[in-house]
Amino acid sequence: FSTGAPITATLFPGDGIGPEIAESVKQIFTAAQIPIEWEEHFVGKEVDPRTQSFLTWESLESVRRNKVGLKGPMATPIGKGHRSLNLTLRKELNLYANVRPCFSLPGYKTRYDDVDLVTIRENTEGEYSGLEHQVVRGVVESIKIITRQASLRVAEHAFQYAKAHGRKRVSAIHKANIMQKTDGLFLKCCREVAEKYPEITYEEVVIDNCCMMLVKNPALFDVLVMPNLYGDIISDLCAGLIGGLGLTPSCNIGEGGIALAEAVHGSAPDIAGKEELWEMSESCCGMSSGGGWVRCWNLVDWRNKHRNSSLNVEFGDAKNMANPTALLLSAVTMLRHLELNDKADQVQNAVLKTIAEGKYRTIDLGGKSSTTDFTNAICDNL
Ligand code: NAD
Repeated sequence: FSTGAPITATLFPGDGIGPEIAESVKQIFTAAQIPIEWEEHFVGKEVDPRTQSFLTWESLESVRRNKVGLKGPMATPIGKGHRSLNLTLRKELNLYANVRPCFSLPGYKTRYDDVDLVTIRENTEGEYSGLEHQVVRGVVESIKIITRQASLRVAEHAFQYAKAHGRKRVSAIHKANIMQKTDGLFLKCCREVAEKYPEITYEEVVIDNCCMMLVKNPALFDVLVMPNLYGDIISDLCAGLIGGLGLTPSCNIGEGGIALAEAVHGSAPDIAGKEELWEMSESCCGMSSGGGWVRCWNLVDWRNKHRNSSLNVEFGDAKNMANPTALLLSAVTMLRHLELNDKADQVQNAVLKTIAEGKYRTIDLGGKSSTTDFTNAICDNL
């Protein structure tokens, strides 16, 4: 960026609501004059034998070449003979750490106002090694792998992150009282790395106690580092503390300096490609001015309420219900990785201001705005 040349970043719009929210990110990046050129790659319709997945070799090469990218949600295709898309990305690009900043959004009220923590999840091993088999009928075995190399690598990233972001404390989350060998090794590695960072407080918290502490007082935590499965669960718990998966960004860090930012939610097939529906009053449903839709505040509530009614409601394939915030804030983590901090602040502040003002909010946040209206409001606030 210092040379003024645009930076090329890979963009996977993904499935379901992915293309809609990716469009929103592109619009806001253009409005903010961010010097990123997107190289778009789509999930293939057939399995690529070189990756054994619906992701093509060319897509993976694009991330390896650009070293930076943004990923929308990808639906997991059902069937045999191919690898999960997310697993393919993690394994092929060696995305060893998943970093999720989680902070209370000003003006969006949840049970807590003071959440400001970061979960760092080991992303390559643990229970996710895919080593499961049947021993005899009625007995199956799943193998949890913890290695010194992967544990040291993720612990190092957690401490480096804490140092770079002025964080004070790293908590290693574990169950070493029961899983003495596996989680024991993970803790040993964290302790080793902690010794190199005396300015950062290091503590160890058993996972069950961690869950209780998080829901009682999330302000007790700063940076949390943990093995794969615990990270999967704890990071979603933390997303719940601030309002849900539609708001939570993440970034995957890989070998060789790769950063692939991604929204943590899925492809939301229940709202993908749907016009928002509005209910005019408790008893009376009206037609929207535009396309002849019956409009309702909440699709699921509306369907339940009118299940037996004679109203003829059409659900078409217009779009516009998805909340692009998680993908946008993920794109902000990508900008920070590129040290485009001014641009990152500009976009983040515009998103937070729009949510705090409350005039334009998407339906999942209790608002009535379409993706387009919310996106335009963010552009106005840039
Ligand atoms: P989901 O996250 O897609 O949806 C859960 C609920 O949250 C739905 O009601 C959905 O409408 C809502 N939601 C999610 N994101 C939203 C957004 N941005 N704005 C508004 N509402 C939003 O979870 P699911 O239904 O279990 O999964 C659907 C598909 O996505 C599956 O194929 C799954 O494998 C895949 N998935 C992918 C990823 C990923 O790519 N990282 C993560 C989770 C699930």
